[in-house]
Amino acid sequence: MTREEVENGKDYMLIDGEDNAVPDGFNADYLKAYYGKLFPCADMFKWLSYGNDGKHPGCDHSYSGRREFSFTLDNDIYLRFQSFNTASELENAIKEKCPFKIDIGPAYSVDPSKRHAYSQGGDNIFTPVERELVFDIDISDYDDVRYCCSGADVCLECWPLMTVAIKVIDTSLRDDFGFSHILWVYSGRRGVHCWVCDGKARRLNNEQRAAIADYFRVYKGNENSNKKVSLVGPALHPFLARSYTDVLQGYFEKRLLSSQNLFLNEERFEKILEMIPDESITSELRGKWLSNKRSKEDINVVRWEQLKHLLSSKKGQGHRRCIEEIVFSFTYPRLDMEVSKHMNHLLKAPFCVHPKTGRICIPIDPNKCDELDPSAVPTLSKLIGDLNAGGFIAEGDNGKEKGNNEWDGTSFVQCVKYFKEHFLDPLHKSCKEEIETSYNAKVKQSRNSISW
Ligand SMILES: [Zn+2]
Repeated sequence: MTREEVENGKDYMLIDGEDNAVPDGFNADYLKAYYGKLFPCADMFKWLSYGNDGKHPGCDHSYSGRREFSFTLDNDIYLRFQSFNTASELENAIKEKCPFKIDIGPAYSVDPSKRHAYSQGGDNIFTPVERELVFDIDISDYDDVRYCCSGADVCLECWPLMTVAIKVIDTSLRDDFGFSHILWVYSGRRGVHCWVCDGKARRLNNEQRAAIADYFRVYKGNENSNKKVSLVGPALHPFLARSYTDVLQGYFEKRLLSSQNLFLNEERFEKILEMIPDESITSELRGKWLSNKRSKEDINVVRWEQLKHLLSSKKGQGHRRCIEEIVFSFTYPRLDMEVSKHMNHLLKAPFCVHPKTGRICIPIDPNKCDELDPSAVPTLSKLIGDLNAGGFIAEGDNGKEKGNNEWDGTSFVQCVKYFKEHFLDPLHKSCKEEIETSYNAKVKQSRNSISW
């Protein structure tokens, strides 16, 4: 593409020189450039093919074509049950339709775009057969335990609640359930998504998914109930005990207690006192705190220590449990259970752009989730600005391959690299091994049946 063609073309907006500043926002032109130059379409398709790329006789040729994609177009036009047999089919559809949002559904028993042909009955029933085990955690579900923001807003003071959720759930999925191919993604605005992609996770039925979701459930409160958490039994379940010691307690005492000012005033400390069933303790603490409103040290830390000291000095298991319940109430992950329970729930694809924030839904390394600052996540306009500045858009279709090392170091390229090297490559390898093993078993079985 020559300079003139580029300047006359409507596909690309700003080219070079002083016009590198791209206005903030989200629009179809930016999105088109993003899908054309940056969106890792081939890697996404490779992921969702789970090794069924036709290179091994044991591959399932129909697998990729049975996966549902859903596109939300401009003006909220909603295209469900899209399916694609190859990476280039997917890429062409995305470039052509330029969806504002892409959701991923399950793999069905038959190609979802031809589902009507099967609805007349017969042997081929249209039903979901495989789906990643997914989790959706939204910061807006924590409004009763954060005072810095509410609703969809999020800042560095409340984001640690998401960090806690990632750490607790990720550790349990690996250590308690034995899953290893887990992808965490920033949802682009107010939360995180988790995709568990191991074969045994994808093949779970709805009852098994509900059982796993239930395993994580301790939060049973609602807006009208004081008690948000019920920890039952003489001892904490090993998973809860470990989460408490390794994650929750530290984040509560070292971060949230002070950053959220949990004991700052009467309204706030009353909310905590309501969780203590012993009237003698609550009235003693209340008296102390109402008469002494100032402290040289952080008042939240002082009051929390007083509360713990008084509760620990009393006899009985219930008092120690009460401290744990307060910490759980303010820190324990709050999952959107319905998303995890049903195979046919759609979930926004990684690397989408959030239309409200313009932020890219980037993968999160659970080992480095402490470092994530949602406000610093690359945005669509930032990426387009970087592309323009590097001359990548002006270079035409091969622009991003011209080997500019500066672009290689951008946070977006690092995200794609993380996705490929730490998630996709190990997943692909294990899928290939699984295909090989089951193919060999089938060959052996058919040989045996012949020799009988
Ligand atoms: Zn906040």
